[in-house]
Amino acid sequence: MNKTIIVSNRLPLQVKLEEESLNIVPSVGGLATGMKSVHADGNGIWIGWSGLTEEALNPELSKKVDKAIFKEKCVSVSLTEKDVEDFYFGFSNKTLWPLFHYFMEFTEFERDQWIAYKKVNQKFADVVLANVNDGDTVWVHDYQLLLLPQLIRDKKPNISIGFFLHIPFPSFEIFRTFPWREELLKGMLGADLLGFHTYDYERHFLSSIKRILRLEVNFNEIAYRDRMVKVDSFPMGIDYNKFYKAAFEHTNQEEKEKSELQRRLDDHIETSQDTKLILSIDRLDYTKGIPNRIRAFEHFLNIYPQFKEKVRLIMLAVPSRSNVPQYQKLKSDTDELVGRINGKFSTVSWTPIWYFYRSVPFENLIDLYTSADIALITPVRDGMNLVAKEYVATRTKKDGVLILSEMAGAAKEMNEALLINPNNFEQIADTLKYAIEMPLEEQQTRMEFLQKRLERYSVEKWADEFMGSLKATKSLDSLIVAKEMNKANENNMLSNFKAAKKRLLFLDYDGTLVGFKNNPADAKPDEHLINLLDRLNQIENTDIVIISGRDRETFETWYGNKNYHFITDHGVWLKQKNKEWNMLERLKNDWMENILPVLETFVDRTPGTFIEKKKYSLAWHYRKADPELAQIRTIEINTVLTSLISNNDLSVLKGNKVIEIKSSSVNKGKATSRWLTQDNYDFIFAIGDDWTDEYMFEELPNTAYTVKVGVVKTKAKYYVKDTLKVRDLLNSFL
Ligand code: UDP
Repeated sequence: MNKTIIVSNRLPLQVKLEEESLNIVPSVGGLATGMKSVHADGNGIWIGWSGLTEEALNPELSKKVDKAIFKEKCVSVSLTEKDVEDFYFGFSNKTLWPLFHYFMEFTEFERDQWIAYKKVNQKFADVVLANVNDGDTVWVHDYQLLLLPQLIRDKKPNISIGFFLHIPFPSFEIFRTFPWREELLKGMLGADLLGFHTYDYERHFLSSIKRILRLEVNFNEIAYRDRMVKVDSFPMGIDYNKFYKAAFEHTNQEEKEKSELQRRLDDHIETSQDTKLILSIDRLDYTKGIPNRIRAFEHFLNIYPQFKEKVRLIMLAVPSRSNVPQYQKLKSDTDELVGRINGKFSTVSWTPIWYFYRSVPFENLIDLYTSADIALITPVRDGMNLVAKEYVATRTKKDGVLILSEMAGAAKEMNEALLINPNNFEQIADTLKYAIEMPLEEQQTRMEFLQKRLERYSVEKWADEFMGSLKATKSLDSLIVAKEMNKANENNMLSNFKAAKKRLLFLDYDGTLVGFKNNPADAKPDEHLINLLDRLNQIENTDIVIISGRDRETFETWYGNKNYHFITDHGVWLKQKNKEWNMLERLKNDWMENILPVLETFVDRTPGTFIEKKKYSLAWHYRKADPELAQIRTIEINTVLTSLISNNDLSVLKGNKVIEIKSSSVNKGKATSRWLTQDNYDFIFAIGDDWTDEYMFEELPNTAYTVKVGVVKTKAKYYVKDTLKVRDLLNSFL
């Protein structure tokens, strides 16, 4: 039976070693809840680190731990103290975390830690590979495991792999500074589906894919090697019912059931009826904008002194990564700021900020959420922010106001909150005033909208949608109608090749026999290719035809003394073995003087592009241009040219990063069908990568072996991944 394997840095449980006894405590966090049904389904397992290093466990204890966590359907990845230091506290939290949250000044690029990161990702891969079977699905989570999808794919090419990033993906301008950027992106592309919280993160990722790997992106699909990788956004929700229910029960609590914290909160509410409680909860992390918030609160008290003694900020900061220096500094800065402001504003009966540096149990979280009139959540950068959503879920009477930073992913789906820029103190101060004075009716209208959305898109729904979308990516592959030219297909073709009496091979040049170069003039045939073509050309009863959009002159220079057949200029010129060049189509090229100046204006406005002047066509190349600008320009150029050429016998063709204008009366299709009339071929093979080669595939009989280079929609019957594979395939004819 097929299963799903969930992989995350930490397992959703805590292993407690007490003397000799073992205690396993399952986590109740958002991810664990979301994954519950995925994990519980069939014989699903969760792979991750248990939280105990190898040094903390002797072999016997380690076995016991493994056995105990296996009962929870978990399998551990064994890490040493050094692994945790370099991979987790090091690379993950000193490089990826700050970089992806736009804190470049905190980002360290340490090669040793990068090596540790790769090593630990491999350790995770080894455990996954030891547990995965064909037909299984793997869902990898978060920034600690960005390389894992490809490491799994390398060994298990056919399984379904999903990846979800729980933090932001930064803009290209930030990501490009990362020294190992190609490797990281390729690691992620091992997945079939890549999920992000918001569309912005998705588009930043795609922008890096286009600019750094220069891959073709079609809407949200990336053609990568022999697969389509889908990218989409899935804003993670919360366990809405759990929070709503807990809050509901909380409001009906009897006095004796109340927590100590709730009693203190009640005291406060009772003694100062007209005072508003403002709540903030976050991990003590520099991304959360804690100092900004305190300063903004100070600014608020300064400019609106009428609220002194009328508001109180309850700030819960949960200790986090306290052995990373920036976090230690943040802690002392926060202590100092709170101290200064409390010192400055406190009166005998009032302290403006209640500050707690600890984590609290779930029931206290509910105490805080349900008692607060306003939640003030001001991260400077946050992938999602679940606290904002949890606050909303606990407002069973639909009162309360959420003030939320627009830099949190959650802001994208929480438009009815009061959205603020966390760096704008004036705006925060004014918004606080607005929130304090907001009529109940408005609070309820806003809250109702927010709650409806959260209830619908819960964390379970989020996980379902992701899994559903991952399953659907399988059918993406079927859009590529061609079959891969694998060994079985190749053998079948070769036996027909051998049995044939008269054979014909059409070979496209650029992108097929040679890879693309930035300058087309650099794509000369290499020695290996010449050797291969010479040997193919010696096979008896076999016609080798190089068929290209290139001009005759280039091929004359490159292949002057070679005795193959050539069709050039998309079919204008033909040279048969041992014969002279022959013009198949009489073409005029006087149209060029009108079109050329138009193309030149595009070159001027689009850095990295240039015009290739061929005898019978003009090509505008944009391989080196910014991919997004080029995309806009191709649409523009198409519109302009189409109106210009409407009275001529010209057509505009979109090739591989090139737009070509040429006569409509020639194309590779016409040239191939003309060739076919010359002889009785009982084996026909044609290979090409470009749009122009589709004409050729179309004209050939059904019995022909037509092969596309690259994984895209095609009329060809087969495909191979790249030019290296083309050479392997041609070699097999020898
Ligand atoms: N939380 C907790 N204990 C606490 C305070 C908060 O478990 O004492 C939880 C809170 O309920 C929320 C999570 O921690 O689910 C914080 O998630 P968020 O997305 O807001 O921030 P992150 O810490 O993931 O950056």
